Amino acid sequence: MKKFKAGIVGAGIAGAHCAGTLAAAGWEVDVFDKARGAGGRMSTRRIDGGWGALGSPFLSAKRDPFRSQLREWVRQGWVAPVRGDVWRGRATISWEQAQLQNHYVPTIEPSKLVRHVMGTARLHTRSRVVTLQPRTLILENGEVRDDFDCVICSVPTPQAIPMLDALPRLLERLHAVNYRPVWSFLMRWEGGPAADVIKFDDHLLDLAVRQTGGGPGLWAVHSTHEFAETYLEAAEIEASNRAASALMGLLGLPWPVEIEASHLWRYALPDNPVGGFWLGDRENRVALIGDGIAGAGIERAWESGQRLAQSILQSKEELAL
Ligand SMILES: Cc1cc2nc3c(=O)[nH]c(=O)nc-3n(C[C@H](O)[C@H](O)[C@H](O)COP(=O)(O)OP(=O)(O)OC[C@H]3O[C@@H](n4cnc5c(N)ncnc54)[C@H](O)[C@@H]3O)c2cc1C
Repeated sequence: MKKFKAGIVGAGIAGAHCAGTLAAAGWEVDVFDKARGAGGRMSTRRIDGGWGALGSPFLSAKRDPFRSQLREWVRQGWVAPVRGDVWRGRATISWEQAQLQNHYVPTIEPSKLVRHVMGTARLHTRSRVVTLQPRTLILENGEVRDDFDCVICSVPTPQAIPMLDALPRLLERLHAVNYRPVWSFLMRWEGGPAADVIKFDDHLLDLAVRQTGGGPGLWAVHSTHEFAETYLEAAEIEASNRAASALMGLLGLPWPVEIEASHLWRYALPDNPVGGFWLGDRENRVALIGDGIAGAGIERAWESGQRLAQSILQSKEELAL
């Protein structure tokens, strides 16, 4: 029996889940990512023998099937429900009062979690894809892979656009999608609110989440979109110092904070996704998934990978792209 082959661009949660679902059904799946590992916007930075989250700090589920998936990941020991206190404005409130139920944190490095999700699919790291053509992808090093039954692209839509010149039907649907940036920092400080999450009511900083995997006093701090738009072209040191001084002012910290890592997510969250779960060019066997299509957040990205994989698997002879 013929073994179908898929080539997937992007090893974030959308591409990984699509890859794992197809691989579990017997497909041969190759996943190409420009980064050094899997995870995409769930990525972390190694700190003091542990790690801190530079991307999404939480996995949250509004409904099934992702809710059941998260419960399954709890059983596997990969995530745990968030408990603790939230500091908001001037007061500390419990997680339940903050109405943040159904939020989970990874208990293993998210890149490993995403790698597990990929199952038996082959991951090619440091492999940037530059062009998509019918059933074909072309890598930055000039390698042409034209042996696929379908090609799936799961990168933020502004990063997909330059690859799609040969696929105008997909290209024309993407131009309106706009992503907003976030600067993300790992900072360490002593003192401040006795909470696990700090929600700022501020134009510069949005959120801080305590990181338990990288030694005491480590926090992930996220800027607002407005801050990131102002410091979009700034050097890391300039953006970090501005965020650190804002933080010290907001929390009234007695000692300077240490900045351990920083990252600009130029495409952090889409504010006007295409809609639906995936976008396909059936004739050319190319489809797009991810949060630029399905909407912001891990749940939507995961579900977009699942819906496309199910649709492909349901159409037996002809691939349903
Ligand atoms: C700071 C921050 C905080 C967030 N907080 C939350 C939260 O609390 N809860 C929540 O649900 N969501 C949150 N999100 C959003 C969530 O992380 C994303 O919606 C989700 O991870 C998107 O997954 P994806 O697979 O669609 O894309 P990505 O994770 O971006 O994966 C795309 C992958 O494609 C790769 N890639 C890109 N271009 C190429 C190329 N040319 N060739 C090869 N590979 C390429 C990238 O390296 C990346 O690995 C947050 C995001 C950020 C940035």
